[in-house]
Amino acid sequence: MGADARPSGERAAGGRGAARPWTSSRARCPALPLLPFLVVFLAAPSVRAAGYETCPTVKPNMLNVHLVAHTHDDVGWLKTVDQYFYGIHNNVQHAGVQYILDSVICSLLADPARRFVYVEMAFFSRWWHQQTKATQDVVRDLVRQGRLEFANGGWVMNDEASTHYGAIIDQMTLGLRFLEDTFGNDGRPRVAWHIDPFGHSREQASLFAQMGFDGFFFGRLDYQDKLVRKAKLEMEQVWRGSASLKPPAADLFTGVLPNMYNPPDNLCWDVLCADKPIVDDRRSPEYNAENLVAYFLKLAKDQSQFYRTNHTVMTMGSDFQYENADMWFKNLDKLIQLVNAQQQANGSRVNVLYSTPACYLWELNKAKLTWSVKQDDFFPYADGPHMFWTGYFTSRPALKRYERLSYNFLQVCNQLEALAGPAANRGPYGAGDSAPLNEAMAVLQHHDAVSGTSKQHVADDYARQLAAGWTPCEVLLSNALARLSGSKEMFTFCHNLNTSLCPLSQTAKSFQVIVYNPLARKVNRMVRLPVSKHVFLVKDPSGAVVPSDVVTMPSSNVQELLFSASVPALGFSIYSVSQVPGWRSRPRPPESRFQKSLSWIKSSFHVRSLLVKPSSHDLTIQNEYISARFDPDTGLLMEMKNLEQDLLLPVRQAFYWYNASTGNQLSSQASGAYIFRPNQQKPLFVSQWAQTRVVKTALVQEVHQNFSAWCSQVVRLYPGQRHLELEWTVGPIPVGDNWGKEVISRFDTSLETKGLFFTDSNGREILERRRDYRPTWQLNQTEPVAGNYYPVNSRIYITDGNMQLTVLTDRSQGGSSLSDGSMELMVHRRLLRDDNRGVGEPLLESENTGLWVRGRHLVLLDKARTAAVGHRLQAEKELLAPQLVLASGGGGTPYHLAVSPRKQFSGLRRELPPNVHLLTLARWGPEMLLLRLEHQFALGEDMVGNLSSPVTLDLRDLFSAFTITDLKETTLAANQLRAKASRLQWTPNTGPTLEPSPSRLDPAGITLQPMEIRTFLASVRWEEES
Ligand SMILES: [Zn+2]
Repeated sequence: MGADARPSGERAAGGRGAARPWTSSRARCPALPLLPFLVVFLAAPSVRAAGYETCPTVKPNMLNVHLVAHTHDDVGWLKTVDQYFYGIHNNVQHAGVQYILDSVICSLLADPARRFVYVEMAFFSRWWHQQTKATQDVVRDLVRQGRLEFANGGWVMNDEASTHYGAIIDQMTLGLRFLEDTFGNDGRPRVAWHIDPFGHSREQASLFAQMGFDGFFFGRLDYQDKLVRKAKLEMEQVWRGSASLKPPAADLFTGVLPNMYNPPDNLCWDVLCADKPIVDDRRSPEYNAENLVAYFLKLAKDQSQFYRTNHTVMTMGSDFQYENADMWFKNLDKLIQLVNAQQQANGSRVNVLYSTPACYLWELNKAKLTWSVKQDDFFPYADGPHMFWTGYFTSRPALKRYERLSYNFLQVCNQLEALAGPAANRGPYGAGDSAPLNEAMAVLQHHDAVSGTSKQHVADDYARQLAAGWTPCEVLLSNALARLSGSKEMFTFCHNLNTSLCPLSQTAKSFQVIVYNPLARKVNRMVRLPVSKHVFLVKDPSGAVVPSDVVTMPSSNVQELLFSASVPALGFSIYSVSQVPGWRSRPRPPESRFQKSLSWIKSSFHVRSLLVKPSSHDLTIQNEYISARFDPDTGLLMEMKNLEQDLLLPVRQAFYWYNASTGNQLSSQASGAYIFRPNQQKPLFVSQWAQTRVVKTALVQEVHQNFSAWCSQVVRLYPGQRHLELEWTVGPIPVGDNWGKEVISRFDTSLETKGLFFTDSNGREILERRRDYRPTWQLNQTEPVAGNYYPVNSRIYITDGNMQLTVLTDRSQGGSSLSDGSMELMVHRRLLRDDNRGVGEPLLESENTGLWVRGRHLVLLDKARTAAVGHRLQAEKELLAPQLVLASGGGGTPYHLAVSPRKQFSGLRRELPPNVHLLTLARWGPEMLLLRLEHQFALGEDMVGNLSSPVTLDLRDLFSAFTITDLKETTLAANQLRAKASRLQWTPNTGPTLEPSPSRLDPAGITLQPMEIRTFLASVRWEEES
């Protein structure tokens, strides 16, 4: 077990101290000074890079120990965000962030040598807004003087496995914007700081580099990896975060902290710790100063052996520490004084100082060393041979989907706020606002939120925050749609379409369907709405009748109306639906195939349909591009064809479950919210066969598979679709047999994949994975299943070099390829034991009833050379799916008397090319928009077409709703002008790299290189209401 892995299994050292009586730290705070502190830092600015002017002086010929006083404040985990902030329920966990910040500020004011680092803006901004102006002024001075330093600066410290890059960028932008607005350049973090996330993605490094960070420190990595790194002196190196971006654009200096993020043993002086304070009074029988100093000197020297410079860092703090900051600082003051006194007394060569992550980084940079380069990532993370943190890739799948769906909705909300201008915020439906959903989504990125590793009541609170954020966005959408369509309607949002519920469409004689498309290209989308038993007429925006169909769902007898909507780029189409009077629907009976038992079929209508004789020929669904054949005996998918490319692949897909370990003789480790540990390597069938029903109409072909009472699937093809859609429904997972279950969907093929498979990194670049292998060290594989699991944020694929089978997901899941030609995704898990990482609850979701989860896998079969075109463009369509808004059919009232209503609108004058993704279009200020354009193909990825080539755009007159009057380019998080941004330079051992000087910005010619994101602040003028 690694030095940082606590045998007790606690997730962090400091987090679980017993509650204890509390005395006020406020009382000891000195009165706020009338004048700002006049501490003068004499360092010559000319020798210090920007942001490092206030760093403390070090001793060049000694070992310098940088003490970093810090607190790690989870934005929800065992308690909700609000419970943590206010210090409620200290019996669950003693933690109150407001008191931490109160106390730290007082302690910093007491001594100008002291320094502190703070990280989570979700908490800090809330605290800041509750302070008096006098306190704010004092804090501004502390920040200016470098005594209070912000690291990372995101709204939260985001998870890296189950987060999508778009949401990471959004949450970092929110936090960094608060710092920029509040403290200007003084508050801009130079260092990224992910001390607790459970493994680290390469994309995260790339994003941090593009945000302008000079370096990155983290705490957790695989215990085997850490041992090797210590031996090879590679605890610090350059991480090359992108295989496409030209170095050093995505290069990030990265350091592994020596002790995760905790203080060394015996040196924890928090109210939550039990270590002895320093007693330096020799007359006291408790005198311990001499021993502690000797202990510290040995510790510092031991630790420094694994690092390359004469600087080493000690993290002095942990979870929710510094609620009584004086305890920490008083002892750190003494430690510094006593240890440094040894330099005079006996020639010690150890110098201890208050420092910060940035000041430590600055010294590493000044060392002018050449650093090794890392090109892979830090997944999966294990803190022991049977302790792989690969369960959380899937934990809480419903929350993971809600988060991804909310990302989609937030982008729609942001775009409509940008397109409609101020009319979106103030309109006939009230005050519309995107900020609450933006903040809720930022909170969800926290490493205990979307990761699924919080307590149940906290997960419920995360969902509550999202739901609360949707409401003002729905008002905003209503205002914007009324403004842009010219008609005030009774808009309705149907939140339960995934369970075929929508009161308006199920009861109204006529209604309108507004389909908004957030992509910068036209899309065609099959609209499905539950309706009553009637015949309907659907008309497109021009009034022409479009083909439609009413289909009865075999499992529920609910009727759904289907029609294909065509929606222009960044715009909407309004379809009208009306019942045909006097006509009742007579949906054609589903073609049926059944095996063994008919007991699950309840409806008499369907029993009639079952009189159809089971056919003996193959069961196949097919459109112009794809065909899928099912085994007539088992009902399982058995073969897939790409008709266009003339490819045929036997593919068997079925559901299985792993029996979750509750510990065994090798290790007591159980599977839990964080950890995946199956009891045996072979998963068990949910069922070896499926009862099948077929629905075939002109607009859809579906095979409904029923595997068991808690597992079913619809395999679906729409016309024009180049992928097979598998909509699975799993749950509630039965646990009455006392076995925890981890359910997977597995695809078995004949592809010779040579141990390789491929997964995305946060939904962007692709990483090659090799079974039982790590690129940078000799792996001793101790968990053949869990140790081969990787995060799948949006896609996983296998290939034999000729054919490629890709599965796109609708949320983050864990996935692997455990034998050649096979690929699996974990869709749901329900566990009876806690995994001893602090959360203290089994992942039961929920205790009594369990949870139904429904999701979709999109399967693409392509030639390997052209596969990227398919999965890149389809993944974009899934992430930013059209938003449906309904309105009753009575007809609205004009938004503006002078304007005639329009049923179709595009915010773009011309579509963007397929390799360009409109990543962000959002309001930034009264007449300012945030715009991000992304090249969504990797270098060399499209080997046949030219989608991997650089692409140049003309932004002038691109948008129809507003005119861009000025354009400024910024770094990725929009907190720094790109022209003024400069990062510390590092020398990789692969050869020197040079940051290119930015060329003059020309709105008529914006060029994007493969995988490049460019961020702009655009001053705009909205078009007058004509
Ligand atoms: Zn944490």
